[in-house]
Amino acid sequence: MQAFHVSLAFCTVLMLSLAIKLWLASRQMRHVHAHRAQVPAPFDATIPLDAHQRAADYTIARTRFGMLSESFSTAVLVGWTLLGGLDALNIQLRNAVLPWGGEMVYQLALFGAFGLISALLEMPLEWYKTFRIEQHFGFNRMSLGLFLGDQAKGLLVGGLVGLPLLAAVLWVMQATGSFWWLWAWALWTGFMLLMQVLYPTVIAPLFNRFTPLADAELANRIQTLMQRCGFQAKGLFVMDGSRRSAHGNAYFAGMGRAKRVVFFDTLLERLQPPEVEAVLAHELGHFSHHHVRRRMALVIGLSALGLALLAWCAGQTAFYQGLGVQPNLLAPNHALALLLFLLATPPFLYFVGPLMAQLSRRDEFQADAYACRQASPQQLSSALLKLYEDNASTLTPDPLYARFYYSHPPASERLAALARA
Ligand SMILES: [Zn+2]
Repeated sequence: MQAFHVSLAFCTVLMLSLAIKLWLASRQMRHVHAHRAQVPAPFDATIPLDAHQRAADYTIARTRFGMLSESFSTAVLVGWTLLGGLDALNIQLRNAVLPWGGEMVYQLALFGAFGLISALLEMPLEWYKTFRIEQHFGFNRMSLGLFLGDQAKGLLVGGLVGLPLLAAVLWVMQATGSFWWLWAWALWTGFMLLMQVLYPTVIAPLFNRFTPLADAELANRIQTLMQRCGFQAKGLFVMDGSRRSAHGNAYFAGMGRAKRVVFFDTLLERLQPPEVEAVLAHELGHFSHHHVRRRMALVIGLSALGLALLAWCAGQTAFYQGLGVQPNLLAPNHALALLLFLLATPPFLYFVGPLMAQLSRRDEFQADAYACRQASPQQLSSALLKLYEDNASTLTPDPLYARFYYSHPPASERLAALARA
């Protein structure tokens, strides 16, 4: 492998993925715009024209913003790699931190500085999305103070959780010889399983308030449904999602007996109890079909592949030089290798996205079918219609765009399947 080939492969894949992203986005915008004037046939009795047009405008605004932010991210990525950004940062920190801080501190500083700079670069985009686009369409409920507080808290939690994990991974890379990637894999898998428990109980409460569901009638209905489905959960909670956004949702979090059911307050405001029951039955369907466990197994399997690939790349000089970095010869190189690998792989993974989306849509159909058996298909339909309308999801996506990206089936396909149930 030669550096030039690495550069060429990286550039080709990066440019190709950006070109496809921009092309699909422009297709989506054209398609949505072309169907803006009229509510499509299966929905014309239930969705008013102004809601349809608001959804079209929202979709177009978000897609246009997506084109901008993808182009920006690509430019930043080229800056970090081929234009030498990461190399410059590495040299600075190696000279500044290594002599007094030692090897581990220098490596953690490299990751920390990279994370901080990336977060600062992305913040204006995040701000624009929240306070321009979401605000304009009436979804944003965040003040600037809450937004900045979230950003700071996110960085702090990322540091508190991420840096010890990173230190452990770097230590494993250093200490366990040529099969370090197997040890790192075991560590990473343990961490992911631990987060399944810690996220809902410790981390999410830092950002939102969770209160036990107070509505006795609804709680009763949900308990009955869960008994019918043979499902146990440790409590029903309402989350104050309305502090940040008007978008509604419901989810399960946790593993085994620590699982909890979480409803966004925005969802409960909008749906009737039988509709909430149907939405929850859909979520139970994901568990009953082991979708969650299977996805977890897939992620764990892919991490093993990724780490093995990293272990191989880390030993190739061409891997570094082809991506604009000089490997450290007289200082530990693990952090640099890991960081570069994390930067270089996403453009390649983009092409696996459609396959993942396809699998996810199949799971959604299965969960819907389960919900139809355990609750009412009509109630699920009417709940979904309300959610589509409230979230201003377009009912007329470009078919190719939907194939490529949609993790959930388009509204028309999904409601048609429910109508047949
Ligand atoms: Zn689902």
